[in-house]
Amino acid sequence: MSQFTAFVQPRMGRIFAALGLDVEYVRAQGNTLYHRDEQGRDIPVLDLMGGYGSLILGHNHPEIVAHARALLDRNPAVHAQFSLRGEAGRLGAALSDVVRRETSAKEPYVATFGNSGAEAVEAAVKHAELVRVHQATALADEIAQNAAAAREAVRSGDAVLDADAFRLPAVRARAPQDQSIDALLAALEAHNAAALATRPLFLALERSFHGKLVGSVQLTYNSGFRAPFTNLGARVRFVPMDRLDLLDAIADEERVALLDTEIDAGRIKVVERALPVITAFLAEPVQGEGGIHALTAEQGRAIRLFCNKVGTPLILDEVQSGMGRCGAFLASSLIGLRGDYYALSKSLGGGLAKISAMLVRRSLYQDEFDIIHSSTFAMDDYSSSIGHKVVELLEADDGEVYRRVAERGEKLTAMLTGLKAAFPDIVEDVRGKGLFIGLELKDQGEARSMVLRGSAYTGSLGYLLSGYLLRQEGIRIAPTGSAGNVLRIQPSAYLTDEEIEHLRGALERLCRILRYEDTLHLVHP
Ligand code: PMP
Repeated sequence: MSQFTAFVQPRMGRIFAALGLDVEYVRAQGNTLYHRDEQGRDIPVLDLMGGYGSLILGHNHPEIVAHARALLDRNPAVHAQFSLRGEAGRLGAALSDVVRRETSAKEPYVATFGNSGAEAVEAAVKHAELVRVHQATALADEIAQNAAAAREAVRSGDAVLDADAFRLPAVRARAPQDQSIDALLAALEAHNAAALATRPLFLALERSFHGKLVGSVQLTYNSGFRAPFTNLGARVRFVPMDRLDLLDAIADEERVALLDTEIDAGRIKVVERALPVITAFLAEPVQGEGGIHALTAEQGRAIRLFCNKVGTPLILDEVQSGMGRCGAFLASSLIGLRGDYYALSKSLGGGLAKISAMLVRRSLYQDEFDIIHSSTFAMDDYSSSIGHKVVELLEADDGEVYRRVAERGEKLTAMLTGLKAAFPDIVEDVRGKGLFIGLELKDQGEARSMVLRGSAYTGSLGYLLSGYLLRQEGIRIAPTGSAGNVLRIQPSAYLTDEEIEHLRGALERLCRILRYEDTLHLVHP
C-alpha cells in the first residue's frame, strides 16, 4: 500500500487502486504528465484535467518557471507581513485594470488575497455580510432617532398619535396595554429587535460549486458535501438557472420590515422600512463542478436586474471560469455581466503558486475589512509575483492567449460535436465555453452490461471510464465533481492538433466499447 493511501487519503487511495488510477506522477510539462513504469521509463499521459482547471498556461510554463527561479534567486521578502507588500500591490492594481478593461467598469476594484478558491468566496461572503450589517445598523439607528423625535413631539404637544398607528398587524400582535406613545414605541422596538435577528440569506444557483470550507460549502449545491454541515453554516436558497423568474417570489417571501415612525402634519405614523436580508447572490458564469453549464446573456441580465432591484450585491465566482479559461479574463465579460465582487484563483497561480483574490468595487469596500479578514500566507511575495506574471502573460500581445483559447476551444468542440453525431446513442451533450468543456454521456441505467448498469446506479460511470482512458489510452480525464457522467475537458491554451487527434481516437474507441457494451475492456485493462 502506498504511503499516500496509508497516511493521507485512505479511501481515495483505495478507490484509485480499484479504478486503475493509482498512479504517481513524477514530472509534468505543458499538457503532459509523466509516471514511471516498473522499468523506470517515463510514461507520458495527456492531461485533460489540467489541475482541476488551474493550468490554463499548462504545467511548468517555461516563462513562469523562469520567473519563479529568478524571483527566488533575488532572496525576496516572501513573508514580510505587516508592511507595504509591493508584489501584492502590483498584482492588485493589475487585476483591477484587467477587470475594468474587460467590463468597462468605471470604478477600480480592491483585492483581498487568500490561498484557495474557497477562501476567496468566503472573503466575499464575509465582506458582503459586513456591508449588510452596516446597512441594517444604520437603518436601526435612524429608526431609534425617529422614535426619540416622536416621543418628544408627543410630550411637547407638537404631535398626536395617528388613529392608524396601532393598526399594523405586527403592532397589534404585540398587544400594547394602552395606546400611548410609550406603548407604541415599545411594541415597535420589540418587533424590530426580533426582525434584526433574522438570519441573513444567500442566493445561489442549483448545481453551483463554491468550495468546501465551513462557510462556502453551504453555497455548494451538492448535498453530499453540504448536508452534514448545514447546522454550521449560512442560510442559502438555490434557484435553478432556467427558473430565474422565481427570484421575485423568493424576495417577497423573505421580505422583513422594520417599523419606523414619522411625523406627518402633527400625526405620528408607523411606516415599514425594508430590512436588507439577502446578503448576496452568488453565481459561476460557467458552472464547473456541477457539470459545465454556462449562463446565457439573458440569464446574466436577469440576475443583474434582480440584484439591482433588491439592492443585493452579485458575487461572481470566476475561480475556475476566469483567467482566460473561457477565452477572456472573465467568463462573465463574454455575456456582458458585471459583478460587485469577483472570486479568482486556480490559474491565477500559474500552476506553481497557491493564490486567490477577492475583488470588490472600491466604493463598496469597507476599510475595516483589512483587519477583520487576514491570513498569514496571503499577499506573500512569491504567489503575488507569480500571479502578476500570469496576468501579464494572459494580457500580452493584445490578448493572444484569449484568442488562442477561443480558437483551440472551437477546434476541440468541433471534434467532440462530430463524436456526438457519430455516437448519438452514447454522447448526450457537448457544452461549455473556450477550453472549459463538458462531454456528457448518456445514462447507462438501462444497459444490458452489469458493469455499466452498476456504474450508472452508483454514479461512477465517469470514474470507471477515467481508469480505462488512463491505462489504455494514456489520457487523464475525470468527471466533474458533482455530475459523474460529465467528463470535464480542461487542457491548457497550448493544446495541439495532435493532442486533439489523440483524444478523438481514444473517445471513438471508448464510444464503440459503450455501444457494443464490450465492457471487459473497461474492467480488465
Ligand atoms: N469556486 C469554484 C467555481 C470552483 O470551481 C472551485 C474549485 N473547484 C472553488 C470555488 C473552490 O476552490 P478551492 O478548491 O481552491 O478551494
